[in-house]
Amino acid sequence: MSELAISGGTPVRTDPFPAWPVSGEEEARVLAEVLASGRWGSSHGEIVRAFEREFADYQQAEHCIAVCNGTLGLTAALKALGVGIGDEVVMPAYTFVGSATAALMIGAVPVFADVDLRTHLLDPRAAEAAVTERTAAIMPVHLAGQPCDMDALLEIANRRGLAVVEDAAQGHGAEWRGRRVGALGDAGMFSFQTSKNMTSGEGGAVVANAPDLADRLYAQANVGRVPGGGWYQHEHVGFNLRITEFQGAILRAQLRRHPEQTRRRDEFWSLLTGMLAGVPGLRVPDIDPRVTAHGRHLFTFRVAGLGDVDRKRRFVRALAAEGVPVSGGYVGLHRNDAIRREIHTITTRLGRPEPAAELPATDELVAEAMWLSPQTLLGTKTDAEDIAAAISKVLDHSMQL
Ligand SMILES: *Cc1c(COP(=O)(O)O)cnc(C)c1O
Repeated sequence: MSELAISGGTPVRTDPFPAWPVSGEEEARVLAEVLASGRWGSSHGEIVRAFEREFADYQQAEHCIAVCNGTLGLTAALKALGVGIGDEVVMPAYTFVGSATAALMIGAVPVFADVDLRTHLLDPRAAEAAVTERTAAIMPVHLAGQPCDMDALLEIANRRGLAVVEDAAQGHGAEWRGRRVGALGDAGMFSFQTSKNMTSGEGGAVVANAPDLADRLYAQANVGRVPGGGWYQHEHVGFNLRITEFQGAILRAQLRRHPEQTRRRDEFWSLLTGMLAGVPGLRVPDIDPRVTAHGRHLFTFRVAGLGDVDRKRRFVRALAAEGVPVSGGYVGLHRNDAIRREIHTITTRLGRPEPAAELPATDELVAEAMWLSPQTLLGTKTDAEDIAAAISKVLDHSMQL
């Protein structure tokens, strides 16, 4: 057995993985055009508007509002749906902090429900068990680009009279039973932050089908203005979440790259999944057969029996030393002190107890799950072989970690 690179052995690889983001002449040209046009803001331009049209079509939604980031896009979606002070929003705790932040920023209370260990996604039964008379919305998170069980979640929401806001920050192009995610529920958010599969450095979008909701989303992103209304006609209280024409131009170009990049990620994903299939102790998430397109954002895997977060950290560091960039994943929002403090503050002011959060499956993911840096998925077959070799090597030595 060759020695681990972290203990002084030879790393599996030293070559870098593909760079991200990807840009070319197209991006350079369109940026120069916006610069020269003097129309930099989207309120007086056509480029962001065109992107909104194109992205709505891409996600098979009727409407799209571009916003300056995904976190505030989620906040705007909740607010536009009437979610407010003291309302509860059921969501997984195994997600990015922005999912919960979005609720807390409008005085709503995130209520964490457990994930299904097989998929790493919000467990519909746990979500329903978390619903109370104060629940206003469910927030499925299409983590890694893998759609949640939207049949079950929409059925629960319809039966219980709840709004559904999809956190599709990682779900560009993803599809549940032949329908793209985002507007399967009432509204859905996508992020264009640097690490995401479509990016303008920062940015986001909210999609929806209902025209009245789209108007309220527009107002949330445009200081309360109404579509077609006057500049100083503020009929609602809203944020300014607009993006610039520079971002719109980049996004239009990135959108055109996305299908081909997704094909490469698909191919890489199946190669790597095949290579890792027989590796003992390693588990990749099950993909529901009703997922007809996976967003392929994060290749996630679990190392069974790692047991705790510190040991996982050492595993991640050992992989990095072998030349494979891996993230140790989320810490679980039910264990984040800032989120807990904010929930405590809001519920105390309302004279209510804090919602309980016993999440054994989430805790197991926190202890065992990790994912490859997203740009590795644009790699070659050799890159996949190196990753599989590095994972196997570190697993062989995992007793030493
Ligand atoms: C990236 C991300 C967000 C937040 O998006 P930003 O654009 O970074 O604000 C929210 N939820 C999930 C699951 C994410 O991955």
